[in-house]
Amino acid sequence: MMCVSTRGRAPRVNFRTAVLAGLAPDGGLYVPESWPRLEADAWHRLRGASLAEIGVATMGAFMDDSLDGASLRALLAEAINFPVPIVPLTNDLSVVELFHGPTFAFKDFGARVLARLMSRWHTDDAHPLTVLVATSGDTGGAVAQAFHGVPRTRVVVLYPHGRVSAVQEAQFTTLGGNVRAVAVEGSFDDCQRLAKEAFADAGLRDAAHLTSANSISLGRLLPQMVYYACAAVQHCGPAPLAICVPSGNVGNLAAGLMVQRLGAPIVRFHAATNVNDTVPRYLETGHLEVRPSVATISNAMDVGNPSNLERVRWMFGDDLQAVRQRVGGSAHGDAEVRDAMRTLDHAFGYVADPHTAVGYLGAQVHLGRHPGDHVMVLSTAHPAKFGDVVHAALGHAAPVPEALSVAMARPRLATHVMPVLDDLRPLLTRW
Ligand SMILES: *Cc1c(COP(=O)(O)O)cnc(C)c1O
Repeated sequence: MMCVSTRGRAPRVNFRTAVLAGLAPDGGLYVPESWPRLEADAWHRLRGASLAEIGVATMGAFMDDSLDGASLRALLAEAINFPVPIVPLTNDLSVVELFHGPTFAFKDFGARVLARLMSRWHTDDAHPLTVLVATSGDTGGAVAQAFHGVPRTRVVVLYPHGRVSAVQEAQFTTLGGNVRAVAVEGSFDDCQRLAKEAFADAGLRDAAHLTSANSISLGRLLPQMVYYACAAVQHCGPAPLAICVPSGNVGNLAAGLMVQRLGAPIVRFHAATNVNDTVPRYLETGHLEVRPSVATISNAMDVGNPSNLERVRWMFGDDLQAVRQRVGGSAHGDAEVRDAMRTLDHAFGYVADPHTAVGYLGAQVHLGRHPGDHVMVLSTAHPAKFGDVVHAALGHAAPVPEALSVAMARPRLATHVMPVLDDLRPLLTRW
């Protein structure tokens, strides 16, 4: 498969080049030039297959000779070495738990595969790749942990000072080695803008061998198809399958739409957001109106300018009606989200983190619009990652996995900067 840019002003490149570059040189996002398709019997055969096997079938369909099937299988088996349980709650609702990886959030899938692809393809020992990542919370931990100690790479994590949870902060500020945490005095949008400015600065880009591991990277997006496919092939019964995706930058949603186009038996998606509702408003009005992000209890989704929406719109030729046929949306305020966490706890004994609770609310809206569907809610984070929010809402804590308490006890290392490129520049070039 060759990749092209959503903006159409960059040369077509192979998968390997697209993954190593992150962003396309015209500022667009890489997308596949053509769409492979797996027929119904191929999906049937994947039922009960391992995640690595499902990954070879789905990711492999988009890859060229950048990587052979056996190497891809081995890489995926090492990267995705944790399960994806599906928990039924009612006849028409279940939860797909994506938080059993090392940082207890779904971003482990993409980040761990991407780190291994990059380390395999970047062979220059003298000049390590500098992975620059802006995070609203979970990306930083997943990327830092995924690359920590990986040869020929280093990671710079930009995060909004004071706006990520203690657990999230511990996951990227306590590693040291080839991981540098940078606390930006500003919002997530400032962090994202800073990263974009750094990439746009050709001198800096070359000097630091900058690359991206944000969800704009195709190398992070494609592995996320795996759990959609895994959920879809396990779904039985006549009800059409819909998937509700708690959404921020909509990389997760974009991956779902890609695997649907590959032929996975998923009929519809629902993008559930917190009050940062750019996507539901776009779906409703057809206008893409970017706003500054607002802090909420589901902070990994506090995104005012969802970068992957460009990819989603490109996939549908910027035809709003076509997008609406596949994707619905709704937005939910913090009070409603806390209520949902209590409902899940009381009615099902299910302790959900606030992002998953947003997804649960979205699923209710979806079932109101499409009563015959079976909805699977993607559970994007372990409740213990948002222990304070869970405790405040439920009056009791979520059990804390041991790896989390170990990270919490380590000393924090971060450099503080103002949200201007000149402050960041020396941190990228001098290590
Ligand atoms: C990143 C994240 C999201 C949002 O995912 P996008 O791909 O940015 O839409 C949702 N929940 C959690 C816990 C996350 O870390």
